[in-house]
Amino acid sequence: MFRHLKIWRERRILQRHPLSDSAWRHALVHCGPAQRLDASAQARLRVLATLFMQAKALEPVQGLQLDDGMRALLATHACIPILNLGLKWYRGWHSVVLYPGLFVPQRQIVDAAGVVHHDRSVMAGEAWQRGPVILSWEAIVQIGSPPGHNVVIHEFAHKLDMLNGEANGFPPLHAGMHARAWSQAFHAAYRELESRWNSNQPAPLDPYGLENPGEFFAVASELFFQQPLALRDFSADLYSQLKLFYRQNPGEA
Ligand SMILES: [Zn+2]
Repeated sequence: MFRHLKIWRERRILQRHPLSDSAWRHALVHCGPAQRLDASAQARLRVLATLFMQAKALEPVQGLQLDDGMRALLATHACIPILNLGLKWYRGWHSVVLYPGLFVPQRQIVDAAGVVHHDRSVMAGEAWQRGPVILSWEAIVQIGSPPGHNVVIHEFAHKLDMLNGEANGFPPLHAGMHARAWSQAFHAAYRELESRWNSNQPAPLDPYGLENPGEFFAVASELFFQQPLALRDFSADLYSQLKLFYRQNPGEA
């Protein structure tokens, strides 16, 4: 009964708020991971992006003007990670705040010693536990340069990670996945990235991932969808854990 109700509600949303062909085309042209999908997966992505735009409030600030193509592009990138998981994986929060350029969060952080710091680093995006995702449109336009970077997938990967607490690189794994295999794959890839960074050797993964396990999961997720073969070459074990988690195999598409 509830399943029927959900399907009925979703159908009604799709009828009342369809994603126009031109907005969808705009999104596809600017979303590499979506281009790699076959036609039926693209059709599912379009439905999911449409539902996403109704489920989440997209809130432009500082004079940013959002048109339908921009909204569709953001929703399409955001729905790539959950294509085979479903919108329920983005539960518990409801807005995406969009700045025109890079932004400077004015907040106070209290450290373990009780000292308040004013964090004034310039941000391309951030994800708050149970709060909004905040993104810079300038950073969204730059997705794919450098190759493998995708700020939207990065922040939404943090959201998935936060489903079971703080962003620690350990999102809720599916039945049949093994925490140990996950940890081993991530630790080995982390150490490999660290050793390449220390010896000035190139690596496809953004060294920002060395900040902490949560950031490592987010940058690995970016690369998994943006340049799947580069990630698979770097670490086949990490690739297969992400394949199990996201239930996608972008390297085979
Ligand atoms: Zn991050």
